[in-house]
Amino acid sequence: MTDGPDYGFDTLQIHAGARPDPATGARQVPIYQTTAYVFRDADHAAALFNLQEVGYIYSRLTNPTVAALQERMATLEGGAGAVCCSSGHAAQIMALFPLMGPGKNVVASTRLYGGTVTQFSHTIKRFGWSATFVDFDDLDAVKAAINDDTRAVFCESIANPGGYITDLDAIAAVADDAGIPLIVDNTSATPYLCRPIEHGATLVVHSMTKFLTGNGTVTGGVVVDSGKFDWSASDKFPSLSAPEPAYHGLKFHETFGPLAFTFHGIAIGLRDLGMTLNPQAAHYTLMGIETLSLRMQRHVENAMEVASWLETHDAVEAVTYAGLPSSPYNHRVEKICPKGAGGLFTVKLKGGYDACVKFVDSLEIFSHVANLGDTRSLVIHSASTTHRQLTPEQQEAAGAGPSVVRISIGIEDPTDLIADLNKALNAVK
Ligand SMILES: *Cc1c(COP(=O)(O)O)cnc(C)c1O
Repeated sequence: MTDGPDYGFDTLQIHAGARPDPATGARQVPIYQTTAYVFRDADHAAALFNLQEVGYIYSRLTNPTVAALQERMATLEGGAGAVCCSSGHAAQIMALFPLMGPGKNVVASTRLYGGTVTQFSHTIKRFGWSATFVDFDDLDAVKAAINDDTRAVFCESIANPGGYITDLDAIAAVADDAGIPLIVDNTSATPYLCRPIEHGATLVVHSMTKFLTGNGTVTGGVVVDSGKFDWSASDKFPSLSAPEPAYHGLKFHETFGPLAFTFHGIAIGLRDLGMTLNPQAAHYTLMGIETLSLRMQRHVENAMEVASWLETHDAVEAVTYAGLPSSPYNHRVEKICPKGAGGLFTVKLKGGYDACVKFVDSLEIFSHVANLGDTRSLVIHSASTTHRQLTPEQQEAAGAGPSVVRISIGIEDPTDLIADLNKALNAVK
């Protein structure tokens, strides 16, 4: 698609990044199932390796199917560029990699996907990085946690397992004052519901495994760069501002301007870490994104209806859907995700841990799986699964205590979902 005037989201989710295949005219983006690309001649090969000419060398770095998806995601998020990765967790490492170094830290919200808490609490320490977790509703605590070695601030827009919405503008202002980038995991919201760059985010990461692909078929991730951060304003980001020894002394920011982070992600991140998305997975994700807005509207409508009904059931202690007027985060919906609070929330059962386990086992339409953002409705008892590695305090802070079940509402008939939940809740009583 040529750069249009101001195409709407529904148009861009289908056309951005896609153009008829130059070789065959194929209308759908072909799956370029190839590892390598023939160079025109030796000069062409040298120019590609020098990053003087943009083109394809080897599919660990770039691939045309993956490139179409990168352009689509950059467009939908309003960013300058994007790098796709093999999973959401890979995208998080790829986002931090150019910024961090031994002894450096990231200040992160306590309300994160359980796997991210584990990745940040333990695994990144192997690289000499660390994370400081704070309550992102307490702006003074966020400010206080930032020190001279902090290289990023990290949060989710609508946080998994649901019900919490970050005041992105307030957090972005804190990061901006400290001269460090804000990274927002926008997995639960998708760019249809929330566009973090418009609220001051520098980088947006996604697990494309979830709502973007939308049907539970592949794992994938992406880092979108706003292109707005001045990497050269301080000496904190030498990989981007100073000569990069891993690429024969190239200065990425000086050379590529707003695309510095994206080029670094491909030329060094994918080249050396190898967390590459394969073209088949990119194809499934492109297919999924074509219907993103339609699905998200239905996820939101169904979540509202089911969450409102659950709140009235006498086996239920609380429902944490931010779309409900009873939610303490309901006032942030209008500002952060005006089209709705997503399809993910938790329900707290009066019967505690045992009731949760019985409830999950009694459902029929809902599947008990470690996934979310599927067309199918899904549940999981976080405390015994995804958040199992967390301490009890971390579980409570993340909204995943022992009496809580996470629900990802699909796009089925809401009457059927309610009937299934009703049957399972009555089995618990
Ligand atoms: C699933 C998820 C991740 C991790 O993504 P994978 O694709 O499973 O690696 C990260 N953040 C959030 C919010 C998620 O839901």
